[in-house]
Amino acid sequence: MKAEIVAIGTELLLGQIVNTNAQFLSRECAALGIDIYFQTVVGDNEQRLLDTFKLAASRADVVICTGGLGPTQDDLTKDVLAAFVGRELILHETSMNAITEMFQTRGIHMVESNRRQALMIEGSDPLHNETGLAVGVAFTFEGTHFILLPGPPKEMKPMFSQYAVPWLCAVMADEIPLYSKMLKFAGIGESNLEHQLLDLIQAQTDPTIAPYAKEGEVTIRLTTRAHTIAEGERKLLTTEQEIRNRLGEHIYADQDVPIETIMLQLLGEKQLTLTVAESCTGGLLSDMITAIPGSSKSFLGGIICYSNALKHKLLGVPMEVLEGEGSPGAVSSETATLLAENLITTTGSDFGISVTGVAGPSSSEGKPVGLVYIGFAQKNMATKVITLQLSGNRESIKHRAAKSALYHLWKRLKDS
Ligand code: ATP
Ligand code: MG
Repeated sequence: MKAEIVAIGTELLLGQIVNTNAQFLSRECAALGIDIYFQTVVGDNEQRLLDTFKLAASRADVVICTGGLGPTQDDLTKDVLAAFVGRELILHETSMNAITEMFQTRGIHMVESNRRQALMIEGSDPLHNETGLAVGVAFTFEGTHFILLPGPPKEMKPMFSQYAVPWLCAVMADEIPLYSKMLKFAGIGESNLEHQLLDLIQAQTDPTIAPYAKEGEVTIRLTTRAHTIAEGERKLLTTEQEIRNRLGEHIYADQDVPIETIMLQLLGEKQLTLTVAESCTGGLLSDMITAIPGSSKSFLGGIICYSNALKHKLLGVPMEVLEGEGSPGAVSSETATLLAENLITTTGSDFGISVTGVAGPSSSEGKPVGLVYIGFAQKNMATKVITLQLSGNRESIKHRAAKSALYHLWKRLKDS
């Protein structure tokens, strides 16, 4: 199995940036048992790019390209490769929708060239871009497997680990028998997780350890070469055990499921019911829970008590607690406690969870953006309040607050 890495970009030739993509990909490929025979760097030039693809196809089984998937005139990778293999460029609808939505939410005018990021080569498989806009491309042409990845490392790395590797494994099942496993973490940020596993990540050879993050959730993919599941499990054992020793309290699953699924499983097993009172998350928590089929077994419902008036009227929080000189305020441990406890008395559920905080962009009640209180009330148990200071924009604070509520409930269920 011979592979070639083609890094595309005049910036690289001018020495303005270092080709760290080639280093990353070479290391990853080595661990997968794919031999890199050549690393090529080529500028944003049509003819030289075409010559490069021709040469690479003639001498490699796998050609992995990075860069030039952006919207601008010098981003030529897809156009030139499409011309080389004699195929058309077609629009990938899902990516196009994501791009349009991004421009709409940010209120920026979308120019025609942005469509280019949603183009893929006819007959290819799209590689999802979780951290950017340009869709990746994977296809096989006359026996050579081509993979196109974006240039920015923060887009390229997750796309490679999460989508390109499984694609390669599928098309080359006989040559590279791989076994991989996901560990899902909650209640810990990506940088903290990486910090705690840094020595393992830096020393990795076999298995490889690839961390990546989505809002409020971090995933690690462990990959090794193995012909059977038993062999794969055996080769992953030591590394997985070491990760569990260090961060086990944050690992909620060894498959790709959201924390709400596992939390609901535990609620179901224990035959407990849940209600929520949401202020700053505005229904997001209920939405996450009800996105899981079967949630009706444990989830009774939620109240979106966004205004103080509704916190008072529907859940009986005294106005003196919510506002006025010297009061704790709507964003406070007191309010979180009362909301959660009154949920239980009003609805009769076993658990009541409340979320109240400042989602931003400006502070409220003199309290900083990102300050969030989550109340956990349980029948016949003392109520607990978790205080969070979250960072990010409004959307991400809401998302993290909801995920954090799910995480803490999961933890409580697991330990009880
Ligand atoms: P964009 O949408 O940002 O234009 P792109 O896929 O078109 O992405 P390029 O335009 O080639 O990629 O590069 C964008 C940025 O990605 C560069 O400015 C650089 O910061 C980074 N980058 C590109 N190639 C590499 C590489 N080989 N190694 C490290 N970083 C790279
Ligand atoms: Mg570009």
